[in-house]
Amino acid sequence: MQAPTIGGVSVPRGDGKTVVRVRRGASLTDFADKINANPASLVTVLFHLGEMATATQSLDEDTFKVLGSELGFDIQVVSPEDEERELFDAFNIDLDYGVEVEDEEDLEPRPPVVTVMGHVDHGKTRLLDAIRNANVIAGEAGGITQHIGAYQVTKEHEGENRAITFIDTPGHEAFTAMRARGAKVTDIAILVVAANDGVMPQTIEALNHAQAADVPIVVAVNKIDVEGANPDKVRQQLTEYNLIAEEYGGDTMFVDVSAKQGLHIDSLLEAVLLTADAALDLRANPDKDALGVAIEANLDRGRGATATVLVQAGTLAVGDSIVAGSAHGRVRAMLDEHGNNLDVALPSRPVQVLGLSSVPRAGDTFVVAPDDRTARQIAEKREAADRQASLAKARKRISLEDLNQALAAGKVETLNLILKGDVSGSVEALEDALLQIDVGEEVDLRIIDRGVGAITMNNINLAMASNAVIIGFNVRAEGQNAEYAEREGVEIRYYSVIYQAIEEIEAALKGMLKPEFEEHEVGTAEIREIFRSSKFGNIAGSIVRSGEIRRGAKARITRDGVVISESVDVAGLRRFKDDVTEVREGYECGINLGSFNDLQVGDLIATYEMREKPRA
Ligand code: GDP
Repeated sequence: MQAPTIGGVSVPRGDGKTVVRVRRGASLTDFADKINANPASLVTVLFHLGEMATATQSLDEDTFKVLGSELGFDIQVVSPEDEERELFDAFNIDLDYGVEVEDEEDLEPRPPVVTVMGHVDHGKTRLLDAIRNANVIAGEAGGITQHIGAYQVTKEHEGENRAITFIDTPGHEAFTAMRARGAKVTDIAILVVAANDGVMPQTIEALNHAQAADVPIVVAVNKIDVEGANPDKVRQQLTEYNLIAEEYGGDTMFVDVSAKQGLHIDSLLEAVLLTADAALDLRANPDKDALGVAIEANLDRGRGATATVLVQAGTLAVGDSIVAGSAHGRVRAMLDEHGNNLDVALPSRPVQVLGLSSVPRAGDTFVVAPDDRTARQIAEKREAADRQASLAKARKRISLEDLNQALAAGKVETLNLILKGDVSGSVEALEDALLQIDVGEEVDLRIIDRGVGAITMNNINLAMASNAVIIGFNVRAEGQNAEYAEREGVEIRYYSVIYQAIEEIEAALKGMLKPEFEEHEVGTAEIREIFRSSKFGNIAGSIVRSGEIRRGAKARITRDGVVISESVDVAGLRRFKDDVTEVREGYECGINLGSFNDLQVGDLIATYEMREKPRA
């Protein structure tokens, strides 16, 4: 039989089959909530199992399993994606659509989906206009008239008419915000760099975002019509960031363009298709219920809630019941970017959908449900889950403190950092120094973004999407941003001394930042008499001298100030004939120390527990 207490604390027990489900990233506190236990006592239990964790630290699945088997619970760790999947499973809706999961014969080619990114004023908006206009020739009456958040153009390529979908919100903010929410929309990024200005901070930021998402990049060197434009310099500058032009022996396509004069737009589209064909397998199964992502939505006075969705697989049709985030409804009409009504939308096609109950958020997934009722039920469940998620205390996605555990468990192989500082000199110095830390083979330290200025929403989104820790050097995240980071569980560390930042990160990488525990004396008792019991072994008749003695506690026995034994368990505790859980100072009691029998009158029994030491 298991002891009723572990480490001096009593905790609720399961029967070994009781299933408890916790969200991925849950802490002891979350688990404690589910079984009605005191989080601190679970810390102690875990400690006795040889694992140290704080009450609020995220635990990995293995640790939960160990803890669960000790306590008689079958702890199942579920990710938000799993939850979502289970929700859809319950309604028999299949969310898998990738090339990997479909039958080969069901797959049809689909157009690439492209996002335009780059530094402010380098011509992103103008380029999106130019691409839109260049395509008027392709025969659409009236050209693109509606802004719906995305549009499609066609380009003749190797004798075939190929479509390309452009997300019509320039900049990486939208891109990262969506990715932070788990939506992968973009297949290819066009990085716009003005040839008269060269690589600028947001160029790098955009590039970091794309690289972090593993999205191939085509570089549009823009404004070549401007005097002093130096497209070669742009190529040179970007080699530093691992974007090496084909003509320099790399595999990134660079195209010189002028968005203003509409120069070489065609070559740029060509480069997109070549890159897609070389680097990606863009196919989807059109022959099933549609699913995809909402990319833009608003409330229109006349038409109610409208949402532009990007179909990622299947075919969306007028009359389908859909759920997008926590909005639902039946597709009343679908409009494309020309304002034309469509009956169906195939993979990679963006369409504006009318008929939703409310406005979804950009990045929400949408799916077709079998009927209106199911759509509504799913939407309601999602809304409830959202509410719960935002109520639940934010988890650290990754923190320096638990980095080493995550590394050991093979959960992460890299520590991604985002550096923000007050002046560029200190950011560079910090980056240089960090990159010189010798971190050994197993772990990779990557600085995925750096910049000058306060910590922005965008930094936090990138940190969320890439599981990064943000380092603020003499700068802070303020107000809303700080709250957002807290809510989303992004760790921000602040420093004002470079070496301190370096020391801590080095320590984290070497596993020195684990929580520290210190012994805390709970009570002492003096042995006054010894009773021999054939059944239980020796019972120490004692008087509690300080604090209290608890059943199950760990004890140390000293004789004349010398330690006789460590780590002895208080296996039984009695007052007269009754079993009790604790005895306070001044009272007599019988203490059974289990198999430990080397006792003498006058020995001191000191019980202690391990408590987490707050870090200085
Ligand atoms: P964004 O901030 O990246 O979206 O940049 P915009 O598209 O708004 O362009 C910024 C400014 O640069 C505008 O005044 C554009 O007219 C101008 N611009 C954009 N592309 C070109 C180009 O190819 N040549 C010239 N001369 N000006 C351009």
